[in-house]
Amino acid sequence: MAGIVLITGAARGIGRGLAKKFAAEGWLVLAAARRTTDVSLDPAIHAIPLDVLSDDSVSSAAATIAAGYPCIDMLINNTAVFPGEGNERLEDIPAEWFEDAFATNVVGVIRVTRAFLPLLRKSASARIINISSGAGTVSEKTDSAYYPYSVSKAALNMLTRAMAAEYREEKIPVFALSPGWVKTDMGGSAAPLSVEESAGSLFQTTTRLELEKSGGFFGRDGEVYPW
Ligand code: NDP
Repeated sequence: MAGIVLITGAARGIGRGLAKKFAAEGWLVLAAARRTTDVSLDPAIHAIPLDVLSDDSVSSAAATIAAGYPCIDMLINNTAVFPGEGNERLEDIPAEWFEDAFATNVVGVIRVTRAFLPLLRKSASARIINISSGAGTVSEKTDSAYYPYSVSKAALNMLTRAMAAEYREEKIPVFALSPGWVKTDMGGSAAPLSVEESAGSLFQTTTRLELEKSGGFFGRDGEVYPW
């Protein structure tokens, strides 16, 4: 076994693709999802019920994993929501859309990471991957699209930097990775990349990024992304 990876939002989209890719590469996959009936059937993929919005759900997932597995070698915070269509004007966006995006895309990552740090600390080579987006790049923003989503991903990028600084001493690197524009429910059918292409590249990058690069923002092939 190459290692144990916990992937959130693993029942569909990129999370499901990552679960299949890691399993095919010899990893044991803890596929966390709200609806575990949708998780891929594979002996190396173990479904774990987990809703990133719920303290109870996350702590019970952590207890289940602590009881059945020695450690977590990699945590992939993949879950996200994209409220609205993306082209709404600021004055037309309900405040709840911002709250929903922040609750899942930022606070969800915090809740999950905190709960699984004790299991990550039991690994000799733990790492944390936050799946971000080019939409979170502040320095190149020239449009007003995707307000709730892009604001939450910019916050996730800051969270990644801060976590990387805090856990550097413990040698737990933290990276923000953009998967590219991918054909999923979120990415839509016009996206150029298939889930398999994105997951294949992400697998290589997540397993190869070195500790010294902790706190960085990268594309799926490991190219440096602007903040
Ligand atoms: P999808 O919308 O296809 O899937 C989102 C996943 O998140 C689903 O598995 C969903 O589970 C899960 N999820 C949502 N809310 C919760 C919750 N409260 N608890 C647990 N799971 C939850 O998105 P993608 O696969 O396209 O996106 C995956 C990641 O990649 C996201 O972080 C996204 O921001 C990022 N990304 C995607 C791009 C793209 O082009 N697709 C581009 C850039 C970044 P459920 O089935 O239960 O709803």
